[in-house]
Amino acid sequence: MVSVQRPASSVQPLILFGGTFDPIHRAHVRAALAVSTVLGDAPVRLLPNAVPPHRAQPRADGAQRLAMVTLACAGHRPLAVDDWELRQPGPSFTHTTLKHFRRLIGDRRPLVFMIGADSLAGLDQWEGWRRFATLCHLAVVPRPGAPAPSLAISRAFPRGNASQLLRLAAGRRLMLTRPCLDVSATEVREALAESGDCRALDPKVLAHIHHQGLYNVPATHSDNEAS
Ligand code: ATP
Repeated sequence: MVSVQRPASSVQPLILFGGTFDPIHRAHVRAALAVSTVLGDAPVRLLPNAVPPHRAQPRADGAQRLAMVTLACAGHRPLAVDDWELRQPGPSFTHTTLKHFRRLIGDRRPLVFMIGADSLAGLDQWEGWRRFATLCHLAVVPRPGAPAPSLAISRAFPRGNASQLLRLAAGRRLMLTRPCLDVSATEVREALAESGDCRALDPKVLAHIHHQGLYNVPATHSDNEAS
């Protein structure tokens, strides 16, 4: 088990960003870039989940969500997609993912799990959440209207600054103050179903959605192939 007080080596932290990404939108990408920047341009792995245990099941399948995350990460050097959760059987429990990545990188390198402030407020509903602090730091991105975390959550993850996250392997909570973008995948799906367009999407992701006919947008690929 990792001691939260143990000084980490000077290697860059590994940042994990789990989510449904149904679809990935501008706020996801801006949040990932912001956390990377504040932690010295550290790499971020975006992990689309297979079967999210805490919420409604995604509309697009895993392969489609992976394809959209890959398109959205292209051109952003610190960002990379990771299909580890999609390759595991059954529900994607963050605790299992954290244990896997902690084993992969060893005990000393900082591991950072980034989440939106809305997810932080509900963290105590996640399986094994109290053990997260032995495995990783949290980097929390603000989200309009998100409630404050409970005392239990705040105590499990004491607040830390960026230099503490770089120095320790796990156990601190970094609260970012920006970006704070009022975008959600639910609203993106609604806009797509209504108008086939959404400015919160990367143009490459929007083109993919049209090509594949996702989210009730009529597919365009058969027209193109016929012409
Ligand atoms: P949905 O509307 O379908 O619930 P979502 O937009 O919240 O989707 P998810 O894929 O569920 O997106 O979110 C993955 C992670 O990104 C979560 O930690 C969530 O809190 C965070 N996140 C999503 N949107 C934002 C946002 N606008 N600002 C900050 N964090 C966000």
